Amino acid sequence: MSRILSSPHVHTTYCDGLSSVEEMILSALDHGFESLGFSGHACQNFDKRYSMTAAAERAYIREVTAMRRKYAGRITIWLGMERDQWSYAQREPYDYVIGSVHYLRDGQAYVTVDGDPAALDDYCHRRFDGDGIALAGEYYRAISEYVCQYKPEIIGHLDVIRKNNTGSKYFNTLSPVYREIVQKALEAMASSKAVMEVNTGGMARGGLDTPYPELFALRQWHKLGGEVILASDCHKADDIAFGYEKGLSVIREAGYDHALALGRGCSLFERYQI
Ligand SMILES: [Zn+2]
Ligand SMILES: [Zn+2]
Repeated sequence: MSRILSSPHVHTTYCDGLSSVEEMILSALDHGFESLGFSGHACQNFDKRYSMTAAAERAYIREVTAMRRKYAGRITIWLGMERDQWSYAQREPYDYVIGSVHYLRDGQAYVTVDGDPAALDDYCHRRFDGDGIALAGEYYRAISEYVCQYKPEIIGHLDVIRKNNTGSKYFNTLSPVYREIVQKALEAMASSKAVMEVNTGGMARGGLDTPYPELFALRQWHKLGGEVILASDCHKADDIAFGYEKGLSVIREAGYDHALALGRGCSLFERYQI
């Protein structure tokens, strides 16, 4: 089966995206997409600049549902959310959930792993005496626990902690100790049957030249029998397929001869040859 163009990871003006639901759909159609999933940042009680409010969530669900009807026959629209570990959002109205960790607990507060670099640096020094490997360990423990307990359909940007690791500031991703941490997390998550996204959002916005996760992690995921889905983590309509050629080549390099996409019919996922 030939390639299906799609993305399950799209943010709109209901959270921190810059384009509307319909602008995203029109761009997806322009790019030849056959399905598209919206994944608004789920409601949370803190750092509300990024997430949907309860009122925005209701409007988001209404609009995506209306657009699904409006564009039926041209593109299949799915209603999802990107749910942070610390979100309180309910799963029930959604077709699928992307489970992500954007924050680590800092006492009663939260520190972003992919946000303000100074805040993360401060946290690493206070909590781990500046030991970046310990910071990585904390992050991977959090994502693997979340995925194993909550069982989202999709695992969001596995190694997003790389975003603030410029110049190997915290850890060297080639080091055996880092790779061992990632390997343990992957082994734990494999039993959840969640699909790993290959997320090009860090290439569009974070200055990275490879998707999340890195090739070695994808290779291990492949060996563990895990499935993958290409995702653009899109925040503006023009970026709907940003980095997709690179993303597909990394998936191939990891050993896959196929990937999943959001379905064009009634099944949430569909498989295609790459
Ligand atoms: Zn995210
Ligand atoms: Zn996202």
